[in-house]
Amino acid sequence: RTWDESKLSRELLKAVEKAGYKKPSPIQMAAIPLGLQQRDVIGIAETGSGKTAAFVLPMLSYITRLPPMNEENEAEGPYAVVMAPTRELAQQIEEETNKFAEHLGVRVVSIVGGQSIEEQGFKIRQGCEVVIATPGRLIDCLERRYAVLNQCNYVVLDEADRMIDMGFEPQVMGVLDAMPSSNLKPENEDEELDEKKIYRTTYMFSATMPPSVERLARKYLRNPVVVTI
Ligand code: AMP
Repeated sequence: RTWDESKLSRELLKAVEKAGYKKPSPIQMAAIPLGLQQRDVIGIAETGSGKTAAFVLPMLSYITRLPPMNEENEAEGPYAVVMAPTRELAQQIEEETNKFAEHLGVRVVSIVGGQSIEEQGFKIRQGCEVVIATPGRLIDCLERRYAVLNQCNYVVLDEADRMIDMGFEPQVMGVLDAMPSSNLKPENEDEELDEKKIYRTTYMFSATMPPSVERLARKYLRNPVVVTI
């Protein structure tokens, strides 16, 4: 298996090469082409499988295909949001994202507790394409209008089972509800997708699939492909 089979653009392949990733892992091979087709994905995978790059690379691919951000209106981002249960995990995801994002000129801001929310709001307003957040702090930022998600059509729920275990289900749903629902894919699988339209793409990673996670998936994911590694 090689990166050439992953369907990533040349620009992304270059970023992968610079990060020093010689070969895609199985979860990357399975999940990346689905994300590139705007399919929703449920990934059942543990840390260490390379799951982070499996959602980060299609997310960055999506962002690089958007028209550049309007200079006069920097506050139009973010275009993608990743939610994770803990500060530590959010920081790991940020590091992994920056391995590729820096080569692509994509700006990443992390929105987690324990740091100044005003400063985080300032960074978002300066312009950023990707936000990586814990759900509680992101809701605080939305309530203060430090962040607006009306241009956000790419969302990742990492360790969804843990986020629910920690009681974050209302915050996760609050964030998802702040994104434009007009871009959700049709529920009917047979309905054809408009190739020119941007649809919301949702990735959900979870080590386990208890009923609470399935409920969340049924509410927000559209005809997801389940990838088990
Ligand atoms: P994760 O499962 O996403 O937490 O990733 C585990 C570790 O594997 C991280 O340190 C990544 O930087 C690394 N990694 C992920 N994908 C690859 C790859 N295709 N080649 C080499 N290292 C990788």
